[in-house]
Parts: sequence; structure tokens; C-alpha cells
Amino acid sequence: MTTGSRVDDAGANWAGTYRYAARSVVTVTTVEQIASLVAEGGRVRAIGTRHSFNDLADTTGTLIDVSALDFDPRIDEERQHVTVPAGMSYGTLGRFLQERGWALANMGSLPHISIGGACATGTHGSGAGNQNLAAAVCGIDLVAGRGQRISLDETDVRFHGGVVALGALGIATLLTLRIEPTYDVRQDVFINMPWEDLNKLDAIMNSAYSASLFTRWNGVVDQVWLKSRIGESSSSPTPSGSSATPAEGKVMSPADDGHDNTTVQGGIPGPWNERLPHFRFDEIPSNGDEIQSEYFVAREDALAALRALEPIAHDFTPHLLISELRSVAADHLWLSPAYERDSLTIHFTWKNQPDAVRRLLPTIEDALRPFSARPHWAKWFSMDKSEISALYSRLPDFITLADELDPDGQFRNDYLSRIVGLN
Ligand SMILES: Cc1cc2nc3c(=O)[nH]c(=O)nc-3n(C[C@H](O)[C@H](O)[C@H](O)COP(=O)(O)OP(=O)(O)OC[C@H]3O[C@@H](n4cnc5c(N)ncnc54)[C@H](O)[C@@H]3O)c2cc1C
Repeated sequence: MTTGSRVDDAGANWAGTYRYAARSVVTVTTVEQIASLVAEGGRVRAIGTRHSFNDLADTTGTLIDVSALDFDPRIDEERQHVTVPAGMSYGTLGRFLQERGWALANMGSLPHISIGGACATGTHGSGAGNQNLAAAVCGIDLVAGRGQRISLDETDVRFHGGVVALGALGIATLLTLRIEPTYDVRQDVFINMPWEDLNKLDAIMNSAYSASLFTRWNGVVDQVWLKSRIGESSSSPTPSGSSATPAEGKVMSPADDGHDNTTVQGGIPGPWNERLPHFRFDEIPSNGDEIQSEYFVAREDALAALRALEPIAHDFTPHLLISELRSVAADHLWLSPAYERDSLTIHFTWKNQPDAVRRLLPTIEDALRPFSARPHWAKWFSMDKSEISALYSRLPDFITLADELDPDGQFRNDYLSRIVGLN
């Protein structure tokens, strides 16, 4: 049996801002190939579509690229589940489901990311009632340490530790996700929201199925994007209590580079998979030449956390392309940044200025420390394992689970040692 196609240069992440140190990358098409690569021993990690910004995915050994795993998605209509290969992108799954009359509850800002990579890192979209994407998972098949094959479902006490798992428990091969009948969404954009309107942040976040606020911290919220499910309200969507004005015509992504890559706006209804992501699946998303950071704070601390950042905004705005504020509902996944906490996420898309970003992050984290801000696992932050362990009460259970499923530490890497304390 072949073990997949191997190349020696592991290449870089999607943004080109991190070069993997792994000795090689093997692209696999079958679960058997994954099991046999892991059973050979030595360090391995899964790699999805490479959209993470830090060294989380890296290894001193072999990266196993799961994006070509050969498995057709299977819908279970009775249970309202779909089982998918972990390397499939949300965009591909979205089209597959929509063609068959089904939908996911939510999507992240770009549909290009792999489902396995997104769930492993607690990736999220927006919506006061929407949990992060991993919360849709109800079953997961893994190749764990020494090549053992394991299935976890919601009846297993380990399940809540096994979904947002940072690749530390093994290579996810199949994921089963909750689905629902398809629905249409409209996307409405409002501009020039006065900064004082942030006093109504809760109402604004609650005013649509999904709300995103974009700002450059210059005294105004440049854009408010509301995504509303058709049929849920008879009135036209507006950001409650805000005097932001409706945008006329198409508004580009606030961090745009001049080309139109965003999903249809202007209140025109369309299928969920073509409105919930900010970026179109057939386009190159976002700016590209960038670094990202993001922090989750409790919804009740949202305003205070934003106010704490205001005095240092003049330090970070010269290096900022755009900030986005979103809401994420609480879940029960041990390492989810929204674990047991309805959250506001404070996101920064930075210019590709690594030294400046590295210098700024401790200042931002100092300002957010009173709010026990949890960083996005896949983006840049400067916290170490002592700070991280104080933020995740189930981290000791996760470490026990990693010891059980990966007894030889094959999936460990420098990030997991430095940030999570998995040595
Ligand atoms: C332009 C842009 C926009 C983004 N927008 C959002 C957003 O809206 N919301 C948000 O929360 N994040 C966002 N992100 C971050 C992104 O969602 C995460 O980086 C996510 O991990 C990307 O998935 P990936 O497949 O590219 O993961 P990769 O970077 O390939 O891998 C990330 C981690 O997942 C692990 N992994 C991947 N596949 C598997 C598998 N099969 N089994 C086990 N572990 C696996 C890897 O080992 C690694 O540790 C954005 C990133 C970019 C570049």
C-alpha cells in the first residue's frame, strides 16, 4: 500500500506569514494511509487548508495533509446529520448540502477553510445564538497515537475534549455534523455608526441572526453587517438603537484591496451558504498579506473590554487593517474559547508587520487581562501556558485525554508544549 505522496518542502501557511519547519508533507487519500503513517512512529501533525497564522500545525516530523481524503459526504436525513471527510472545505460542503435541501447553522468568514482545521481550533462565525463551528460536531473519527482508530460521539465522556483538540489527540478523518433544512439569508450593511452607539452593543448584536461590526478604532464603527434568516422577522433588519445609515450599493470588505470578493449584500435573499460567509467561495478571501489576532471576552464584559482598549488604540491603529467584533454563544467543549461563556470576539487583522504585532500583543493582553480574555488558538497572541491554564478549567482533563490517546506524544509540538503544557 502507498502511504500518499510526499514532498520535502513543507511550504508556508495560506497568508505566507509562517513557514512550516516540518521535514515533509504527505498528502493522503485514505484513512488506511493515515493509520499506517502514524503507526510508523515519530512525530506527525494534521494540516488542513493552512489558514492558521501561528505554529500550531507544525511538527518536527511529517505533516499529514488531509485535504484530499477520498470520502463522499453522507446525509442521515432522519437524524439530521452529515458525515464528511475532515479535509473538506465548508464551501464544498455548503454546496453539497444546499443542492440537497440542507444547511449548517453557521459558517466562518471564509468558506475556504477545512472543517477539520476549523473545528480543531474553535473557529467561529457570528450570532448571539450561534455557537462556534465545532459545536455542530456530534461525532468524530480519529487516527490516534500508534495508528489506533477511535470514534467519539456525544455519549462518550471524552467527547467534549475531543473536538476542539488542537490536533493533539490525533488526525480527525471523519466528522459528523448537525444539519437542518435549508434556509435563505439576507445581508444588510450599515455604515458610519457613531462610536457612542457601542453603548447599545448588546442590542445591536441581538438585532440579527448574525451581526459583525468593523472598525479602525477612529471614533466610528465603519460598517455593521447584519445577516438575517428570511421569514424570522417581518420588519427590515436594522442595528437596534444605532444611527448607522444603510449602505447604498455594494460595500467592499472593510480591509479590501480594491477587488470585490464579498458575498451578496443589499438585502437580497439567497441561500445560507452564499450569505453567512463574508467572502465568496469562488474568490480569494481577505487581504492575504496579513496577520490576525483575536480575543474572546464574556458578553457581559464586552463594553468594558472595548473601553479598556480605547486608550491604547493610538499604539495599534498604525499597524491595523481592520478590527471586527462578533458574538459567539457558549458551548461545552473543554478547549473552546467560548467554553461556558457567551462571548464577544475582538478581532484584529494586522498589516504584515510581524515585529510591530509582536510588540503590541502584550499591551493588548494587559488591557484585556481583567476580562480573562481567551485568545483564538490559530491566530497570534503572546500568552504562555501559565496564563492559558488559568483560562481553561478542563485543561488538566484534556492533558489526561492526550496522554491516553497519544501515549508516545506523536502529535505534540513546540506550540502545545509552550501554550498548553503538553510535553
Ligand atoms: C482570511 C482568514 C479568515 C479567517 N476567518 C476566521 C473566522 O471568521 N473565524 C475564525 O474563528 N477563524 C477565522 N480564521 C482562522 C481559521 O479559521 C483557522 O486558522 C482554522 O484553523 C483554519 O482551518 P485550516 O484547515 O486552514 O487549519 P490549518 O491551519 O491547516 O490547521 C490548524 C490546526 O488544525 C489542526 N488540524 C487540521 N486538520 C485536522 C485534522 N483533520 N485532524 C486534527 N487536527 C487537524 C492542525 O493540526 C492545526 O493544529 C481565518 C483565517 C484566515 C486566513
